Amino acid sequence: MTTRTQSTPFSVTQHSVRSWNFGAGPAALPVEVLEQIKEDLPVYKNSGASILEIGHRTAHYDELQARVEKLLRDLLDIPQTHAVLLLAGGARMQFVMAPMNLLIEGRPAEVVHTDVWTKMALQDIEKIGSGRVVASSSQDNFSYIPVMGPGTFSGDASYVHICANNTIYGTQYRSFPDTGAVPLVADMTSEILSRRIPAGRFGLFFASAQKNMGAAGVTLAVLRRDLLDRSPVRLPAMLSYKEHAQADSRLNTPPAFAVYVMGLMLRWVRDQGGVAKFERESQMKSIMLYDLIERSGFYTSPVHQKDRSTQNVIFHIRGGDENLEKRFVQESEAAGFIGLQGHRSAGGLRASIYNAVSLTTVGELAEFMSAFAKKNA
Ligand code: PMP
Repeated sequence: MTTRTQSTPFSVTQHSVRSWNFGAGPAALPVEVLEQIKEDLPVYKNSGASILEIGHRTAHYDELQARVEKLLRDLLDIPQTHAVLLLAGGARMQFVMAPMNLLIEGRPAEVVHTDVWTKMALQDIEKIGSGRVVASSSQDNFSYIPVMGPGTFSGDASYVHICANNTIYGTQYRSFPDTGAVPLVADMTSEILSRRIPAGRFGLFFASAQKNMGAAGVTLAVLRRDLLDRSPVRLPAMLSYKEHAQADSRLNTPPAFAVYVMGLMLRWVRDQGGVAKFERESQMKSIMLYDLIERSGFYTSPVHQKDRSTQNVIFHIRGGDENLEKRFVQESEAAGFIGLQGHRSAGGLRASIYNAVSLTTVGELAEFMSAFAKKNA
């Protein structure tokens, strides 16, 4: 496998060359992790079979899952007051499980509406019980995070739902709202492990793995243990946080391969210097692109400066010149960059710069963007 670096020329006819991947998810993985998967594939440790083929009640799987949980607790500073659950069904399944487990009769869930993902979460909440939007940026095309104060939340909601980083519109909370005694539920799918978080402050946070934690198939849900008592007894087992917690996330066959890849990703994050290192790097990478956008007189950012995401950098060309944006995508692909097309519901361009996208790779993109701007000014 060849990885393109500044000094590695490449040929577009050479299919085994890896592109610079700025996709929003499933997203780039570190080459070291991919190489390790290749090495481990025929035989996992001394189990006599690959990780795809061994049972989830074996000592090997026990060890793997325990190691993954320990790495998660260490890296994210998750206290013992919180249960770590490894679930299937993606982050969207959490839009369903959260209300099914956490809603209390007569007390709605309150939602801060900032993206397509909070809209979906609200729709699912309303199918199960009642939901209420308490702050929203929808009237301004989701270009900012609403300002929240003591009056934003009623104080008697079942929980408050937010999306920490808005993958499609490129906004991100700088700090998390204070919801007092009401549990805060955060969708961290597109920012997990990119910055330090006050893990103990959340009632629940969740993230599917395919952006910063590996392969699609497993979703992390971290839930305050006392909230497990809210799971209704009549809930089918597979939808109940309480039953998943009691069964150590093994009510049925877990997505073992995805859990294994998550383990490799977590080890890689730890060995690189942990979440604090990626927090610094996320700042540097995003500032590099936002500065270029601001200075260019060619690219524009639709996002209010104070709320710009360090993970998904959304930009337009001259406020939304679709022909030039199309050309940008074509020429960037020819130059070895993939995944820069904006989401279908937001348009424009998007560079997703998760942990596996290095500072050097972002530098390559910045160079391409500068050259493209000069050529088309
Ligand atoms: N929430 C956010 C913030 C996302 O970015 C995504 C996927 N892009 C989802 C939820 C849905 O994740 P999944 O496909 O794992 O259900």
